[in-house]
Amino acid sequence: MGDVIDIAVVGGGPAGLTAAIYGARARAKTVIFETGLTGGQIVSASWVENYPGFPDGVTGQELGDLMFQQAQNAGAESRTISPVEAIRANGCDFVLTVGGEELDARCVILSTGAIPKKLGIPGEAEFTGRGVSWCATCDGPLYRDKVVAVIGGGDSATQEALYLAKIAKEVHLIHRRDEFRATECLSEQCFFNPQITMHLSHIPEEILGEGGKVSGIRLRSRVDGAETTVPVDGVFEFVGIDAQSALVKDLCELDDLGFVKVDRNGLTSHPGLYAAGDVADYELKQVVTACARGATAVYHAVHYLETRVCNT
Ligand code: NAP
Repeated sequence: MGDVIDIAVVGGGPAGLTAAIYGARARAKTVIFETGLTGGQIVSASWVENYPGFPDGVTGQELGDLMFQQAQNAGAESRTISPVEAIRANGCDFVLTVGGEELDARCVILSTGAIPKKLGIPGEAEFTGRGVSWCATCDGPLYRDKVVAVIGGGDSATQEALYLAKIAKEVHLIHRRDEFRATECLSEQCFFNPQITMHLSHIPEEILGEGGKVSGIRLRSRVDGAETTVPVDGVFEFVGIDAQSALVKDLCELDDLGFVKVDRNGLTSHPGLYAAGDVADYELKQVVTACARGATAVYHAVHYLETRVCNT
């Protein structure tokens, strides 16, 4: 198939790496573009308990490494130096700008994932990297026998609170409602963990600091408006994710939150452009669904390449 890439996989998380495994096995010239750690967001997950085949769980880092190794073994190439700066349509095909170079691709699978949202409260920017973090795996070990706050009530906040409870002396789990969004089994474990203190129906208002590092967090009760200050050494924020869809915003339709709209085959509103994983607009965002969506998208991309009629 010459120098033209058949399938450019943009983003090397579980969705992209699975797409690359299936694309390479279908003997399509498949190239993965990734600039961060291969494995995507999953690398920052301390522990993955619900990916089938690992009955005792697995670290996100190990799972990402294994998937990357499998994609390479299958014959996928990887470009991990420069980011993809732009993607534009060129007739039936696409042109990717990567490190100032232009590369032709017949199909694109966008699997750029999503990044953690910020709270945007006073003190957050000032103490980023000095006590405020979005990655428990990366920064958790700095808080051995210290006190930390975890903000959020979803799967990420509860999962990472449980991980931090194994390291820190005490974890304050702060959630703005009195009900968790997280899977029951994760919220239950948090309720029964003696290291974790719950602050339900509390809104974080300000991250406080002393001597250039975090010293506490100021909360406001949604029940009676009362303010409390909880002394902590670190604040971990897990308040949702933002889709990394900027590369395709002029090529295909996005939903109101910026996630890429796809059909059941992973096809976007632009022929030959597929999306899979956390960047796409389906509801269940798990490693296993990202993998399934990657496989589905590339299966249909290969079929599209074999059958398309392209006169341009
Ligand atoms: P999420 O499910 O969107 O949860 C975000 C949490 O942050 C919610 O509880 C939300 O409160 C709270 N929040 C949002 N904005 C806030 C604000 N300004 N102030 C205070 N709290 C705020 O996000 P996530 O936990 O990062 O998960 C993202 C996706 O990945 C989900 O689909 C999740 O299921 C998936 N995931 C799966 C696993 C796993 O299976 N092991 C692990 C991690 C993530 P409200 O509930 O009131 O809206």
